[in-house]
Amino acid sequence: IDTPLFAGLPGDVEISFEFFPPKSEKMEQQLWDSIMTLAPLQPRFVSVTYGAGGSTRERTHATVARIAAETEIAAAAHLTCVGASKEEIIETAQQYWDAGVRHIVALRGDAPDGEQFVLHPQGFASAVDLVAGLKKIAPFEISVAAYPETHPAANCPQSDIDNLKRKIDAGASRAITQFFFDAEHFFRFRDSCAAAGIDAELVPGILPVSNVGQTRKFAGMCGAAIPNWMDDLFEGLDDHPASRQLVAATIAAEMCRKLYAGGVRHFHFYTLNRAELSFAICHLLGKRANIEGEIA
Ligand code: FAD
Repeated sequence: IDTPLFAGLPGDVEISFEFFPPKSEKMEQQLWDSIMTLAPLQPRFVSVTYGAGGSTRERTHATVARIAAETEIAAAAHLTCVGASKEEIIETAQQYWDAGVRHIVALRGDAPDGEQFVLHPQGFASAVDLVAGLKKIAPFEISVAAYPETHPAANCPQSDIDNLKRKIDAGASRAITQFFFDAEHFFRFRDSCAAAGIDAELVPGILPVSNVGQTRKFAGMCGAAIPNWMDDLFEGLDDHPASRQLVAATIAAEMCRKLYAGGVRHFHFYTLNRAELSFAICHLLGKRANIEGEIA
């Protein structure tokens, strides 16, 4: 970790990007511009979220299908257990398979407005059940969620890790973490996963924060702590959006550098449908755009 800042990083990292389905034509254009900007970095995959409460079924499907049809990038669809029967969820998954989508991010999901998850009478009870159900219909590549600071509803950190192990044993090959702001949280979690016999790929989810107030609103629900030093770093920058971006990139890039020094070679970026911060951090990690990788 005592290497000079980012000097000479060879770019031997894999990256993936997460987007949410757009609600309007303007947002669709912004999303597509972001995908165009990030595509030349040749992500291993990009994923599209599924709205809380299962509210974006059609929009998620349309976005994933468009990425699959119009780009060379592997597209992954998030799918949750919320508000639908097993039969309906399996039907959605089958539609993905038929559209050529081979990667699902399988989640339990949450009810809208941060309420507790409510089990549908004919639904999947948890992500473990969903993973097993998906594996029965097709050999999907499956990623699942993991929580370095423990899921807020878990009884204890160990039961959360046991749950992750069950998701891997049910057929997931990768765990993508909730965002966090201290590389040590990830390293401790990685050690605990290894001790529990979890040998699947553990990919840190990176959220470049440029608006600490907004992030605080949903961080609590996600089980992620916002450190006090972050408030200090953004203090006085309310009217300086460009400086906020620079500070955001610096904080996230510094954490990525620590993760890299600790052996991490795959980073998953929560882009919030904006490319520049993720692009800059990937650049600092040594990734360079491959012009041939651009969308035709
Ligand atoms: P699960 O793995 O089923 O676990 C949920 C909780 O129940 C955990 O606390 C777990 O420890 C506990 N648990 C499960 N089974 C047991 C058991 N048998 N005994 C004891 N405890 C148990 N949400 C969306 O709505 N849409 C998305 O697109 C989306 N994408 C996400 C992407 C990533 C990378 C991450 C990290 C989260 C995402 N989420 C998304 C949020 C996620 O849906 C919520 O965090 C949800 O509350 C838990 O989902 P899960 O798949 O982790 O659930």
